[in-house]
Amino acid sequence: MELIDNHTHLQDGPFQGKEEFYLDRARQLGVNKMICVGQDPEFNRGAIELSQRFEQVYAMVGYCPDVAKDYDQKAEDELIEQLQIPGVVAVGEIGLDYYWDESPREQQREVFARQIEVAYELKMPVDIHTRDAFADCYDILKNSNLEYGAVLHSFNGDVSWLEKFLDLNVCFSYSGVVSFTKATEVHEAAKKTPMDRLLVETDAPFLTPKPYRGKQNEPGNVYYVARAIAELKDIPLEEVAKATYENTMRVYGLN
Ligand SMILES: [Zn+2]
Repeated sequence: MELIDNHTHLQDGPFQGKEEFYLDRARQLGVNKMICVGQDPEFNRGAIELSQRFEQVYAMVGYCPDVAKDYDQKAEDELIEQLQIPGVVAVGEIGLDYYWDESPREQQREVFARQIEVAYELKMPVDIHTRDAFADCYDILKNSNLEYGAVLHSFNGDVSWLEKFLDLNVCFSYSGVVSFTKATEVHEAAKKTPMDRLLVETDAPFLTPKPYRGKQNEPGNVYYVARAIAELKDIPLEEVAKATYENTMRVYGLN
């Protein structure tokens, strides 16, 4: 059985200098590939560096909503250059965050929409962060060309949002939240997510799944995310692994 963690931050502090240790532990749980996600200039560089050091690590780069206020022509030029480096497979994470509101909302929306255009021009998918902003996120995606695919990262919407987004060329990536006992709306959404639109991730070092909740998360734990989905859908874990593996390979064009 093979799994891919399609959204992890292996460049983050807790993993620095111990990447090989965590890659090894992931391998023991069948996690042989992962995508290291950027969000600002420092994390973008870190993601690329790891994708160049380790064969099983891919990268994505983008300006997340927190740093949307810093996005200018120079930032975009650098991003476009980075997106053409082998091993960089998507624009992300990008999106809207109305919980932290680190950038003005108007600017978050502009920078999000603009980066989707950049991705389209380069024929690449996008990986989306959205918090307290489903309505605006949906509007932007509906008015964007998503021909090359999009993933809603750590999807935590309910069934009605799932059904709306299903009309778009969007996949749904579940994180450790799907394993939390009280996340009943996410459970229902996961149950109804079609197998060909399903992805799994850790968002490590955050969102640790059961049974390790409260501890630091790591890429190998995507195994427990997949297991939680298998239990919810009442199907074998192998089936979840196979579908999410194939979907991730397809959406991000991995080889
Ligand atoms: Zn993330």
